[in-house]
Parts: sequence; structure tokens; C-alpha cells
Amino acid sequence: MARIAVGGLMHESNTFATSRTDLTAFESGGLEIGDGIFQRWGEAHHEVGGFFESAAKNGFEIVPTLMGWATPSGPLTSATYRELTDRLLQALQEAGPVDAVLLALHGAMVADGEDDADGSLLAKVRSLIGPSRPLIVTLDFHANVSPLMVSESSALIAYQTYPHVDQRARGKRAGDLAWQAATGLIRPTQAMSKPPILIHLLAQETGREPMKGLIAGLEGLERSQGFLDASILAGFPYADVAATGPTCIAVTDNNLALASEMAEHLSASLWNYRHQLTATPPDAAEAVARGLATSQTPVILVDLGDNIGGGSAADSTVLIHELLKQGATRSLVVLFDPDAVLACQHAGVGGSVALSAGGKIDRNAPPLRVTGFVEVLHDGHYVEKLPRHGGIRNNDQGATAVVRLEGENRLVLTSLRHPPFSLGQLTSLGLTPESARFIVVKAAVAYKAAYAPIAGTIIEVDTPGLTASNPARYTYQRIRRPILPLDPEPIVEAVV
Ligand SMILES: [Zn+2]
Repeated sequence: MARIAVGGLMHESNTFATSRTDLTAFESGGLEIGDGIFQRWGEAHHEVGGFFESAAKNGFEIVPTLMGWATPSGPLTSATYRELTDRLLQALQEAGPVDAVLLALHGAMVADGEDDADGSLLAKVRSLIGPSRPLIVTLDFHANVSPLMVSESSALIAYQTYPHVDQRARGKRAGDLAWQAATGLIRPTQAMSKPPILIHLLAQETGREPMKGLIAGLEGLERSQGFLDASILAGFPYADVAATGPTCIAVTDNNLALASEMAEHLSASLWNYRHQLTATPPDAAEAVARGLATSQTPVILVDLGDNIGGGSAADSTVLIHELLKQGATRSLVVLFDPDAVLACQHAGVGGSVALSAGGKIDRNAPPLRVTGFVEVLHDGHYVEKLPRHGGIRNNDQGATAVVRLEGENRLVLTSLRHPPFSLGQLTSLGLTPESARFIVVKAAVAYKAAYAPIAGTIIEVDTPGLTASNPARYTYQRIRRPILPLDPEPIVEAVV
């Protein structure tokens, strides 16, 4: 029976954030060795769950090593990166002889002093397992793929949905390829191509054109002799590293020329749609005014500048200030504010509180000074059983309080930065999001798997913050140039 080592290290690092990600962020997000990996991820709609599913189907033995995951935020400290890399390599070494290695990476991890943290990790794994052993790696749709990541792995298999609801399926696909490679049935060979563009986060949504059609076009490749897999990755624009931006990858059975041709073809397709891969959402004042004018509720206001899944502060008060200013009622706004939660715990359920909430990390609007009464106190744990972006089943938003303000507006105050990928974040508190007039989601696209089914109207808002949606707002220094929309056309190297 083939033995395949399984592990991973997943982080999406926003290099514009001043915060740093340390070991405690992984310990609270998920850091397991051995059988603990199955316990956390085995049943989840996550690629690691897909690895186990593939093992059960194909009959290979999984040797679990180390798996770490942390909420997107600023880069890892160099000590954290070194520690986690060492632990993973040690666990792989202790796994003994294996026929292949399966790793789950995000692909947009950055550490202090290491812009290409995923590529450098793969190089270390490669040197440990030798040049010929299959190393199959899953990536997030937002990976910023470097040449090193391609050269040091046998196959990179990325999610092809945003919101990410195919994580388990892509993990299973990677597991199937690892098993076929481990048993000598195939020899995965890959190539990549990167068009010189940055794709606006809203235009990355795979339910929207042109991304929808571009992803659907991958099916046309499947008929080619020797084709194994292909991915279009949208890239993570909030990282100032050379590899930032989209990537096209093709994996074939020992046919590099075919893989290169396919990757170039996909890259040319993206380039051809470059003028549609952008968006111009309204600002906060206009968005709230539009929301007040519609009868299709709840109105979901998408706080693009404070997209927690993109590594933002999670405490921006720009939209709640605007809602109260324009007299909105029945709004539901989640803010990360551990101190405000403590004040609510002190007051107790039914107690009244005078708060200065949010606006402490994100300074684009001041803290919200309000009085209200504490409706709910909760430990913040809830379970999501459906396929949702991120694939997390056992969720923890930290100690949480619901505060009712005037006009039936409500603040949900959390002690951990927690992205809005599951309605469980609200329903576990006894709230009914369907009956709200406004819901602010601090996200860009990922929230949709959970919220689109209950949304009356969705308004994406061009708010300021660490994840403000227009890449032209950022000062990039290390990204490869020229690149759209930072540089004017024509871009000579783009003739693909
Ligand atoms: Zn992603």
C-alpha cells in the first residue's frame, strides 16, 4: 500500500498590515500534528479533508505530519516562520519513507525577510525528499505563485471557485494525483504563466463574467492527451512581493511542452479580458443612500476596505457611522473589539453600556461612541456543516457580545478577528439576519456562499482600509513591473 505524507502551512499575509503573525495566531487558528489533523480537518469542506477522502477511495495510507492555519493578517515573524517550517520538516522526516507528499499551502504567505515563504518552504521539503518523489500541493485561489513554487513541486492544484466552495474537491483531486504518481501511473509535470495584471477583488468572483467563462474554459483542455489538471489563480493583491498577481498553471503527464502551451494559452485569455477584470463600487455615503432607497432587504453592505479574510483590521467604523448618520434602523454590524466585549461582560446581560467601539486599529473613522444594552453574551464557538469559503467547521470568534442600540441597530462585538463566512456567526447568538434592514459584512466576495441566499440587495462599498479594493491606491515597491493597472499600457512583455 502506498504511503503518502500529508501536511500543510496556510497563511495569507497582507504586507500592507503593520501587524505580525506569531505562533499564537496558528495555535488559535489550528496547529496540529499527527492524528489531530484528521480530527480538525477530516470532515471539513477543506482540501485536507479531500486528502483523506482520496485515501479512503484509492486505498493509500496517510501519514499525517503537521498542519497549521491562521487567520489572514500581517506577515509572519521570521521566528514563527522558522519554527513552523522546522516543525513541518521534522514531522516529514519522522514520517519515514513515503511514496509521495501532499501539502496544503495557501500560497500567499510572507514572512519578515522572506517574500516567497511558500516557495522557500517547498524548496526545503524538496531537498528533504529528493528530486524524484512526487510533491503535490494544493493552493488557495488567491495564491501569488512564484517560479520557485512551480520548480520545487510536482503539481500545484488550486481552488477554482471564489467564494471557495470546492476546497474539498480540489484536495481530493490532489490526493488522486498523488496516489497515481506514487504508484507510478503518472509523472506530473507543470508549467505556469503570469499575465502582467492585478485583478480587482470583485472581478475575481467566479460567478461573474469574465472570470466565470475563463474558469469554464478550462474544461476544453481536459480532452487533450496527457492533460492532468489546470488552474487559474486570481492572486492576492494586498501583498507587495514580486509574485503578486494572477497565475495560470497546467499539469500534464510528463509533457512539459504541452503544459507550457496550455499555461500560456490561459494567460493570454486573462490578458484579453484585462479591461473587464476591474470594478468601480460606490463610496460609503452613496452606498447607504442606495440601501435606504430599496425595499429589497436585507441590504448587504460589503465593507471592501475592511475585508477580514484579506488580513484587515476588522474594526473599521466607517459604515456604521454612515448608517447612523443617515438614520438607518435595524442594522447589524460586527466589530472586533475585545475591550468592548469585556465592558459588556462586566455589565451583564440586560445591563446598559456606554461604549467606544471599534476604530482602534483601523483609523479611517473614529471609535463609535454609543450607549445601548447588552442583549447576548456568548463564548463565540459555533459549527458550520455546509461548504463555506475557507472550509472551517469548528469556528471560534472569541467571547462575543450583542449590544442593542437605538433604532434597533445592533453591534456584534467579537474578541477575535473573525471573517463573515458563515451565518452561524450571527445565528449562534440567536440573531435572525434575514430580519435585519442592513448587514455590514467585512469581506469582498467570500461572504457570498453564506449571505447571498438571504440577501435582498448586495451593495459593494469602496471603503478605505487595509484591503481597499482599488490596487492603484497602494504603494507597491517590490511587485514586478510593469503591471496593470499600476503602469500604463502598452506593456510590451504582455504579448503572449
Ligand atoms: Zn482565498
